[in-house]
Amino acid sequence: MMRQYELVERVQRYKPQVNEALLNKAYVYAMKKHGGQTRASGDPYFSHPLEVAAILTDMHMDESTIAVALLHDTIEDTSATKVEIEELFGEDTARLVEGLTKLKRLDLVSKKAAQAENLRKLLLAISEDVRVLLVKLADRLHNMRTLDFMREDKRARIAEETMDIYAPLAGRMGMQDMRDELEELAFKHINPEAYGTVSDRLAQIANRHAGMLDEITATLRGLLADNGIHADVASRRKKAWSVFKKMESKGLSFEQLSDIFGFRIIVGSVDECYRALGVVHREWKMVPGRFKDYISTPKQNDYRSIHTTIVGPSNQRVELQIRTWHMHEVAEYGVAAHAIYKDQGAASGGEGKPNGKGGGAAAFKDTNAYAWLRRTIESLSEGDHPEQFLEHTKLELFQDQVFCFTPKGRLIALPRGAIPVDFAYAVHTDVGDSCVGAKINGRIMPLVTQLQNGDEVEIIRSGSASPPAAWEAMVKTGKARAAIRRATRAAVRKQYSGLGHRILERAFERAGRPFSRDILNDGLGRLAHTDVEDVLAAVGRGELASAHVIKAVFPDFQEEKLSAPASAELLGEGWFNLTDASGMMFRFPDGEAPAAGARSDAEPREPDRTLPIRGAAGDLPVRFSPEGAVPGDRIVGIATPGKGITIYPIQSPALAAYDDQPDRWVDVRWDIDEANRTRFPAQIIVTAINAPGSLAEIAQVIARNDANIHTLAMVRTAPDFTEMIFDLEVWDIRHLTRLLGQLRESEAVSTADRVNG
Ligand code: MN
Repeated sequence: MMRQYELVERVQRYKPQVNEALLNKAYVYAMKKHGGQTRASGDPYFSHPLEVAAILTDMHMDESTIAVALLHDTIEDTSATKVEIEELFGEDTARLVEGLTKLKRLDLVSKKAAQAENLRKLLLAISEDVRVLLVKLADRLHNMRTLDFMREDKRARIAEETMDIYAPLAGRMGMQDMRDELEELAFKHINPEAYGTVSDRLAQIANRHAGMLDEITATLRGLLADNGIHADVASRRKKAWSVFKKMESKGLSFEQLSDIFGFRIIVGSVDECYRALGVVHREWKMVPGRFKDYISTPKQNDYRSIHTTIVGPSNQRVELQIRTWHMHEVAEYGVAAHAIYKDQGAASGGEGKPNGKGGGAAAFKDTNAYAWLRRTIESLSEGDHPEQFLEHTKLELFQDQVFCFTPKGRLIALPRGAIPVDFAYAVHTDVGDSCVGAKINGRIMPLVTQLQNGDEVEIIRSGSASPPAAWEAMVKTGKARAAIRRATRAAVRKQYSGLGHRILERAFERAGRPFSRDILNDGLGRLAHTDVEDVLAAVGRGELASAHVIKAVFPDFQEEKLSAPASAELLGEGWFNLTDASGMMFRFPDGEAPAAGARSDAEPREPDRTLPIRGAAGDLPVRFSPEGAVPGDRIVGIATPGKGITIYPIQSPALAAYDDQPDRWVDVRWDIDEANRTRFPAQIIVTAINAPGSLAEIAQVIARNDANIHTLAMVRTAPDFTEMIFDLEVWDIRHLTRLLGQLRESEAVSTADRVNG
């Protein structure tokens, strides 16, 4: 295992001013945290983060990235926490380690989804910090190098995932070496037989042509030197995977493969690249159609080189790459190469102020590497396989989307600004419909909280809940909106049909006829409806008269003139009993004592068929008459076709208009939820004495008495007094009565009364 000082030395080789303290601290912390843990190979677990760090030193990464590599498995696999890491290493490092913890959960995600989907999921981290992704790739590379120790089933899964996701990603990021090695290792595990065959053949051919390779190398070196070009020339053998891929895609046998050999010429400048090319083409015949100038036209991922294929000494085709050292670095390390040139001190750890504000995230956005990465990611949608990337544009990928996890690690993509309700509906419609709360990263949070990238969201469900209609305006996704509308419609319809059921039940009872859904079903044809629920809802909405329904079911029914409703009777303090045309009692409880009075005595256990009223809020198709009604008022509901029910206090003169329409009278009662009290509308009329400050005085009295003024209208003004109508919101009749009493006591007030009181 690499020692502490060895790691520091490795970094010092490319960065002499390295922050040794940071590296040492991360080394010791991670080693302690992983303690006696071992890997599948039997090695101490700590050897893994250490190797990952070593891979990143090969890529010349800065010490903050190396520190993150050392710490990358601590949150997930040890007792370490983000808070602790933040205290010890600063905010920036903690954020990066947490990012890796999130990415690690990706590995548990089902891989059934399309590759592009997975790639996109992976890319979520990039917009925040590319270093997370670099450490992740190094982590994967080391895991692939040590894959032999894994269980066989796990091995296959990891290898396939590497081939499908990580290798292409490394390629897209311009890290060709990383890509080659990942592919080669994955190939070995996915198809050991083919890998063995191809590798053996490659080795044989290399042996057979060893002389030729040396010859070409020597010739090239000589020619270039003769022309005054200082160049590094090396032969390279194709990887088994790329040979195999070519055989498969082109349907070629091994013997038919031509360019198994390649040479790389690395020079000092772009000018020398073209001069070297001229030298090569003068010496050997070039193969037409194989020349590509990626210097004048770089690849999307910033890859630059000249490619050409020549016919070599023994008529063997030989591929040549010509590039500068800088181009070579970019080709091998891709984004990492750019990261090397980033502003010094961009990472908080690098400045040795572990508790300082980590400037890393902000500063990183200004670096070459970041700009390069953005360009590269943009190019993803224009790559070799556009169909894999075009599904969403890059804009959505970075600015318009957030990615969140379910507790089981499933990743849910949502538009930015989405709230837990959106998340719930994205998981499943049932989850959304029954959602009553949410935990974000283990903490209960309001359902309106905007989700952030990487949030883990747990939806709290209730078996009986249905989504409040008000959510429709809060959610961000169309799916959630549509589902809430659907559920709201269903709930409203259910309320209407429930109401219709009660109305019909009563009407049939009054008519002395039996009532049930089955009985109703028989009359459907004559009602021009196909569904009992429709009939019930139509009655509930007031679109269908109950007498009409009775007649449809019992054609012999003769409609009688029904007696007018509404003899209200005061039964005792706080207790009211109201009997309407149907003989139904309206009551409201105001104490423990049972209701007195003839009807309630006669039918004390009568099942409650009244419609409970809890204010105008919610989904009930219920509203209040302009003069309002407050708990304590005796109330009546009037059904209006298409509008639902309007609640009137029984003393309202407006009710006279409905005296001859008994079918429209609906049983209602107060059902006050003491735990969730709400205010109710009430209208009062006040005659104020005209004096400076009298209106202010009235407003103060109202406010002092804990009532809200909703609107205020001047009705009449005279030189000495003003009459005004207040729309108030009060708790109940006692509250209102007390308020009126206080107003009357005020010097500013001549009279104060309830409208229609
Ligand atoms: Mn790891």
